[in-house]
Amino acid sequence: MRATNIFRVEHSVSDDARYVRNGHHGGVLWLTGLSGSGKSTLAIGLERRLFDLGYQVYVLDGDNVRHGLNNDLGFSQADREENIRRIGEMAALMARAGMVVLSAFISPYRTDRERARTACGEAFHELYVKADLATCEERDPKGLYVKARKGEISDFTGISAPYEAPENPELTIDTVAFDVEECIDRAVEYVRANFDLKKADHPHGQRDR
Ligand code: ADP
Repeated sequence: MRATNIFRVEHSVSDDARYVRNGHHGGVLWLTGLSGSGKSTLAIGLERRLFDLGYQVYVLDGDNVRHGLNNDLGFSQADREENIRRIGEMAALMARAGMVVLSAFISPYRTDRERARTACGEAFHELYVKADLATCEERDPKGLYVKARKGEISDFTGISAPYEAPENPELTIDTVAFDVEECIDRAVEYVRANFDLKKADHPHGQRDR
């Protein structure tokens, strides 16, 4: 950390006040998995479903972030690490602001994900979007595996760079065993169980959805 003389401001709106108004806690569902495992598909479908259920929800997705906040970063090891570090910090801020953040990044390295967990604290929920490499390669929704096999993309996760699967994720969703809607159902169930206010937290009890 380079900056000195930094003083945090005290917010005048407490975390409790925010979540009572929203009817749920803020937090981060950190989707990790191989390219083509289904992170974007699930995040986008889940965003719609949760929004319709009344959640404040927002997807952070790779390309969107690289066009803006992280447009100074490339794909070197150091830049990938910094990409995930900034996303973790941004997700933490958005969670503090009361949002349910769905982050959809390969994030192949455990240490990077653990750093994001540290930034977000208890609000961090790791969701392993599980699909074997052969299935992802067969799906190849962006044609990237074909390019990687031809050597046109270097350091491609799963082919020429490692993917370190989560050892102890809060939730695993197997996108080979279940179709898209079933996968979204499972994620919605998880969010309802873990983000909703408990009866004791809320003056009007649990919301009726
Ligand atoms: P990622 O964001 O992980 O790179 P995408 O969501 O872009 O992956 O692509 C996943 C592909 O797999 C899509 O073409 C999607 O339709 C397909 N797919 C098949 N079954 C599932 C499932 N159960 N969940 C998510 N995606 C699935």
